[in-house]
Amino acid sequence: MKEKIYTIPVNEAYDKDCECPLCELERKLEEEGVQYALGAAMMEPDYRIESNAKGYCRRHFSMMFAAPNKLPLALILDTHLNELRSKLKKLEKSTKSLETEHAGLFKKNSAGKASEEISEMLEKTEKSCMICEKMEHTMVRYIDVLLYMWANDDAFKEKFDKSKGVCLRHFKMLAENCTKSIKGDKAGQFLAALIKKENAELDRIQEDIHKFTLKFDYRNKDMEWGTAKDAPVRTIEKIAGYITESEE
Ligand SMILES: [Zn+2]
Ligand SMILES: [Zn+2]
Repeated sequence: MKEKIYTIPVNEAYDKDCECPLCELERKLEEEGVQYALGAAMMEPDYRIESNAKGYCRRHFSMMFAAPNKLPLALILDTHLNELRSKLKKLEKSTKSLETEHAGLFKKNSAGKASEEISEMLEKTEKSCMICEKMEHTMVRYIDVLLYMWANDDAFKEKFDKSKGVCLRHFKMLAENCTKSIKGDKAGQFLAALIKKENAELDRIQEDIHKFTLKFDYRNKDMEWGTAKDAPVRTIEKIAGYITESEE
């Protein structure tokens, strides 16, 4: 059997009535990641060394900025910026020769090389994020145990079959990983069941979002909302995963 630290949260997420239990898990990991970065991680020298080098993505910087106490974030930014500056200073040194260099026959690629180096460094900075990395790592474990339980645990399979499916991001992750985590014919059976479920759930969402648009026609003002009232947020969450602005 798979480790309980992963099976329990996955099972619990599937007890919830929601558009994507994997998003529920991810949302929790994200909140914990932000809290940890601004709290306990401040006292972890290893984490600080890594976070000085890697930093955070735009989404997670903005989540950290939303926290009321700005001091932990300022300390993180102070040391991270210092490291970014030293990397950029190095690049400044290596491009110094370009100031006076003439693009001769053999040297014509110097500027091109420097431009590549700078863009690579900045791309790495933009993409690397301590919180994203940790979340991705745990989500892969969750996806693996979900697939394993679907194939080996009838009680979980029943929960999965009764669920409202997943968002398209997690649909992709399940489709990508199912042959790795499920052995034999069951992988194909899972894929067939998954796409059938997703299509049925997207039909349901389509009905809701369409009904929502119809409510704006004065002739339909007395029409019952039914399940359509929060259709816009649920449609976005189904297509793109959970959005933070919609909370509470
Ligand atoms: Zn999701
Ligand atoms: Zn991130």
